[in-house]
Amino acid sequence: MIHALLYYALFFGAVGAIAGGSWLVWRAFERSGPEPKHLYEAFRYVWVDCYEMDWEQRPRLIFVHGRSFNCAGQEVAGMSQYNAITVAMEDDDTPLSSTAFAHELRHQARARKGLPTDPGHKAPDWAPGGIVARTNEELRKRGW
Ligand SMILES: [Zn+2]
Repeated sequence: MIHALLYYALFFGAVGAIAGGSWLVWRAFERSGPEPKHLYEAFRYVWVDCYEMDWEQRPRLIFVHGRSFNCAGQEVAGMSQYNAITVAMEDDDTPLSSTAFAHELRHQARARKGLPTDPGHKAPDWAPGGIVARTNEELRKRGW
């Protein structure tokens, strides 16, 4: 799994370097397949309504289809990087509530609130019944 992470980091590092370093930073959305369903509603709902964040401070989103990788060894197919999250989509119809979308956005929200990003998932945010689980449940209820 760590090899996949390294490969991914190297790939995007190389692409970013080739394009003068700005490619990844300035692209609002990067994806290797169709846009997830209900993306904009779900993004605004999670970021603004659930995490009480400023919409203008939202991170960039990267969706990777047909690949998975773990966030700090957890059973979560996503990563949180500087000002961006990467979310694995098992297939094109994967609902966002079944992905690491809310989980990785929580790392970004914590950083912007001045809290530790908590890569080891020690905060109550990640626990059963915590804000990430409750947010995913709300997404599920909405069919997102
Ligand atoms: Zn995580």
